[in-house]
Amino acid sequence: MSLVLTGIGTTSGIVIGRVHRLTPGELSLPEYHLEPDAIEVEIERLHRAVDRGQRFLLDMYEKVTGEGTDTARELLEAHRLILKDPLLADATCNRIRDERINAEWALFKQAEQLLAEFRRMDDDYIALRREDLEQAVNLIQRELAEQPASLVGSQVPHQLDATIIVAPELGPADLTLLHQRRVAGLVTEHGGPWSHSAILARSLEIPMIVGIHHALEILEEGEPVILDGHYGALLASDDESLQRHYQDKLEVTRQHRTDLRRYLGRPSKTRDGESFQLFGNAELPQEFQRCKDDQVAGIGLMRTEYLFLDNDLPDEETQYRAYRQAVRTMAGLPVTVRTLDAGSDKLPPAMAIGQGPNPALGLRGLRLSLAVTDLFRQQIRAILRASVDGPVQILLPMLTGVGEVKLARRLIGECREELRRAGIETDPGLPVGGMIETPAAALAVTRLASELDFMSIGTNDLIQYVLAIDRQDELVSYLYDPAHPAILDLISRTVEAGKDHNIPVTVCGELAGDEQAVRMLLGLGVTRFSMPPGSLPTVKKSLLEASAKACRKKVEDYLSGNEIETSEKLLESLMRDESA
Ligand code: PEP
Ligand code: MG
Repeated sequence: MSLVLTGIGTTSGIVIGRVHRLTPGELSLPEYHLEPDAIEVEIERLHRAVDRGQRFLLDMYEKVTGEGTDTARELLEAHRLILKDPLLADATCNRIRDERINAEWALFKQAEQLLAEFRRMDDDYIALRREDLEQAVNLIQRELAEQPASLVGSQVPHQLDATIIVAPELGPADLTLLHQRRVAGLVTEHGGPWSHSAILARSLEIPMIVGIHHALEILEEGEPVILDGHYGALLASDDESLQRHYQDKLEVTRQHRTDLRRYLGRPSKTRDGESFQLFGNAELPQEFQRCKDDQVAGIGLMRTEYLFLDNDLPDEETQYRAYRQAVRTMAGLPVTVRTLDAGSDKLPPAMAIGQGPNPALGLRGLRLSLAVTDLFRQQIRAILRASVDGPVQILLPMLTGVGEVKLARRLIGECREELRRAGIETDPGLPVGGMIETPAAALAVTRLASELDFMSIGTNDLIQYVLAIDRQDELVSYLYDPAHPAILDLISRTVEAGKDHNIPVTVCGELAGDEQAVRMLLGLGVTRFSMPPGSLPTVKKSLLEASAKACRKKVEDYLSGNEIETSEKLLESLMRDESA
């Protein structure tokens, strides 16, 4: 018998293994009133539970070492901070005292109040904070109930090779323990692709599917399953031929990945001798290292929103250290730091400001930076300080016109002057570039090019704004067409403006990490591509084997409606070996 369960694949990869179910025991949450003389005892009980929770997280923090574990450590630390947060711990104590109720009840009420505030703000970043808070509260509840702090400890064998864990959801501590025990794959009933456990599983490269509802009711302990993280499909099947098929596929994938890495060291030239350059999009320390190991020409996009995920805004020193670490890791290769692109789908919790009626068209990116200049100045100073450790470039997001560039440049100049007066050195020639990701920027690109030192095309937002489709709205995702003639026209204009003004143009949106789309971009004259590190080998192979001349011809044929009529046909034909 075969059964296919589907969810959202958050880390690609195929795993063939057996199910191990992780079910939380019923957590008892009693509610009762206290006699006055029991209040201090109850507060003490809460403190002890919080302390034990802290020790557990600290213990996890110290245990988790090795590649890809920085995110885990950051998340464990974030949970530890939540346990200490006065809004949680102190406010719960106050409730015990004022309302004369037991710790479980007071904690429940306080958490509900905080969660209700989070729920009112419909935002991805807030959703992550909400998830953190729920997990931290769950940890204290377990300690109060004297249950193990992680589901993993008591219920999971020490070796998990070929084991696929199925759980309602998983926190960073669970994931850390599972990783240590070499879990092969993960399935959760809840959570989205941007939940912390999904982000963490990606950085640890553990194939994972989230959102398979009722998975625990359907799957049995020890059942043989095949997890396909790319398609978000879990196949429960005892069919031997299917198992063999996936075993072969797995072997081919493994071999393919190893083979692909061989291309990384080759000179970056297309089949017909055109040079190109590959850059990495990186945020986390291990991603910079991976880019360096994969021989990129530099970092084409360092998104800095990640630094602003905490409840407190990072100060200049914290930012400086993060930029400096990136610059030092890249050892002489340029690092392009994009200034905070907050707003719309990326609003840090500490900046929970009113978003306006249409956040995607509201105060976001550089607009927000120019409105809250203190924060912008702080970030610029931190970037400028890091520029003495190696080549750094500043990239301005969400530009629409020259006025914004001029104002940003003036502020950058003032920050440089402040630092100079304080005796702090900076790179005097630090290039300032802009993202071309709004229709206005792309249409007026000639004017912008004269004010910028380099340009980066953000195809994710460009497609959203030009085709008028919200990046996050599934209902209109069918209209997503990266090869829409309007998009190609704007990319082509930008490339031309770059040539006319003799400044580099890079594509740093998702298209630059797609093996088909890069050939289309090559056909439009793009030669600099910046992508997530995982895409580097496939993209490199695709470009090495492409003929730039043939790609140009195909794109021209498509744009003139000659022979190639649809964008699907264009992308398909670009991959056909004989011509492109
Ligand atoms: C883009 O818009 O293409 C881009 C690279 O930026 P982000 O995805 O961060 O908006
Ligand atoms: Mg963008």
